[in-house]
Amino acid sequence: MAFIVGCRCQGVGIPFPVGWIHAVAAPPSNGILTIITPLCYRCQARLDHVFKPFWGDIGRLPAAAPPPPTEDAIPIKPAEADAFYGRLAAADPEPETELRFTNPYTLLVAVVLSAQATDVGVNKATEPLFKKVNTPEAVLALGEEGLRDAIKTIGLFNTKAKNVMALSRLLVERHGGQVPRNRDALEALPGVGRKTANVVLNVAFGEPTIAVDTHIFRVANRTGLAPGKTPLAVESALEAVTPDRWRRHAHHWLILHGRYICRARKPRCLDCVVRDLCAYPDKTGE
Ligand code: SF4
Repeated sequence: MAFIVGCRCQGVGIPFPVGWIHAVAAPPSNGILTIITPLCYRCQARLDHVFKPFWGDIGRLPAAAPPPPTEDAIPIKPAEADAFYGRLAAADPEPETELRFTNPYTLLVAVVLSAQATDVGVNKATEPLFKKVNTPEAVLALGEEGLRDAIKTIGLFNTKAKNVMALSRLLVERHGGQVPRNRDALEALPGVGRKTANVVLNVAFGEPTIAVDTHIFRVANRTGLAPGKTPLAVESALEAVTPDRWRRHAHHWLILHGRYICRARKPRCLDCVVRDLCAYPDKTGE
């Protein structure tokens, strides 16, 4: 059995099956579906945007069931992309990460801890921690138990503590205790994937990388700035569409725009500086 939803993010009022959600649901024996995180894979909209839920056998889905390729979405034109970033830049000329850190190592640790957690929650735990320890050697001396205790308010803290210990060990063994300015070396560290490496390269070393998280994925798809079915596809599309002069801060402009204006559940379209450039058909306030 599967639960699928239609989403209007790629058509004006025309429903279509959009893909598997992270599903969910109690069997409909009581007639009530319990839905968990039903995000549209494309625009990341939630319950208020999805419709036509039904139970069905995956093998019997109608021919129209496969999700439409998001690459078919009409992307923003280059001049509009330039204006898009120009507006975000005018509103916030020097955007910064909201994670607190004191050096590249503490940035790396904070980003690893921030997976599936809020920056605010991570900061609460790391501010006192980084006052005590801010190098891989010091974290190794603190020990896994001490680290776990310091970050126990953060989700998945057990796994994250193990990863931070292991990556600290590797930094000491392979990189003299320094965070490498190199994607492959970063991604070889436990708990560090492409997104984390991109954040570290961008924030710690000023590289023009764009780390696609849930906010950027949503903004890029909703607006038509850089449609793509996967974070990697969106990252490639953003690299293609983002003018060089905006590359350095593109990551933070998009993430902050997604976090505070183009929110998943209720985008604040009336307050949005790129409203007239955005292709989202369900803007709020209309
Ligand atoms: S107009 Fe609305 S949907 Fe479009 S970018 Fe702005 S907040 Fe997001």
